[in-house]
Amino acid sequence: MTARKIIVLPGDGIGAEVTRAAMAVLETVAEQFDVSIQREEFLVGGASIDAYGVPIQDDVLDACKEADAVFLGAVGGPQWDDVPREKRPEAALLRLRKELGLFTNFRPVKAYAPLLNESTLRSDIVEDIDILVVRELTGGIYFGQPRFTEQVNGEERAVDTMEYRTSEIERITRVAFEAASRRRNKVTSVDKANILATSRLWRKTVSELAADYTDLEVEHMLVDNCAMQLVRYPRQFDVILTSNMFGDILSDEAAMLTGSLGLLPSASLGDGTAMYEPVHGSAPDIAGQDLANPLAAIASVALMFRYSFNLEQAASTIEQAIDDVLRSGVRTKDLHTDGKLLVGTAEMGERIVEKLQIATVNKD
Ligand code: NAD
Repeated sequence: MTARKIIVLPGDGIGAEVTRAAMAVLETVAEQFDVSIQREEFLVGGASIDAYGVPIQDDVLDACKEADAVFLGAVGGPQWDDVPREKRPEAALLRLRKELGLFTNFRPVKAYAPLLNESTLRSDIVEDIDILVVRELTGGIYFGQPRFTEQVNGEERAVDTMEYRTSEIERITRVAFEAASRRRNKVTSVDKANILATSRLWRKTVSELAADYTDLEVEHMLVDNCAMQLVRYPRQFDVILTSNMFGDILSDEAAMLTGSLGLLPSASLGDGTAMYEPVHGSAPDIAGQDLANPLAAIASVALMFRYSFNLEQAASTIEQAIDDVLRSGVRTKDLHTDGKLLVGTAEMGERIVEKLQIATVNKD
């Protein structure tokens, strides 16, 4: 039996609810695949601000660095909107990304066949989409210096800085190229090279590296065009490689192709411990009401088995269970339509666990 240490950071709002469902799936699949899980849970985000005055404590960060993987629910909420920037719940995410060196964010976007008719787009548009958004996660405008707000001539002026170095672009490009080599060999690099200096460096660096990957089709696309192409003809995309802010925005747009933000998982990878989290936020509007869709969190556990534990079969077992449960007509409120069975967060999680247990019995 392999032993794995996981740090669990449920966070705020629906974070705790979806994490509970995801951890039940983690335990079930770990047992089936002979992995012994040691879990430690800590406060993060607004919950940590309320308890300790900081969005994440240093010893929590140290524990994360020593773990095999980190699972995070979501952070944030209106009650912390007015605190200073470095003390906001989201500062915990930025610190985790920076200090764990998580420069790669994988956001796989796959159409679930049972949901094709429930997307806001026509089913023939979203059918068979299988996109991997590779977002640079530790650079760009979210981290650039200087950043400040000042008073100028009686009004406020705010400045953020967008910056990228060749080395930062090269390492994320290599990750995207390697990922595409294991998929359909196509990379669309997205930038705003007609306006931004950082984007021109991005495009030049990606083009130079492409010369080493002759099996790949590498194309460049402006971000405004990409936003449009994602809803016009999403099947054209295999791997989308892009910077921190563009990836943040485009992956939420891509999430809607699948039907709901509550379906999209993510993996943040670097040289050490990786972190897994649903793409959605803490959804204060539905928090604490058993309304959240836990499938993005559960699919993030599948990514943990795939990327941190190297157990592809465990990952695909979870993804299959999600597909099966959706196929059986079970829906949380975000995806519910007439004729389907409406369930809450907890019951959706239980249905996935049941499906996994049945799958094992059948296998035996
Ligand atoms: P959000 O993702 O929390 O919610 C956007 C909309 O999608 C809401 O209507 C919400 O109800 C719905 N939604 C989100 N997840 C869902 C789920 N699993 N099931 C069903 N519906 C779901 O984004 P927001 O409202 O812009 O932000 C709320 C808070 O979350 C803010 O404080 C924001 O800063 C924070 N946030 C955190 C993260 C993160 O922790 N990684 C990401 C994005 C936003």
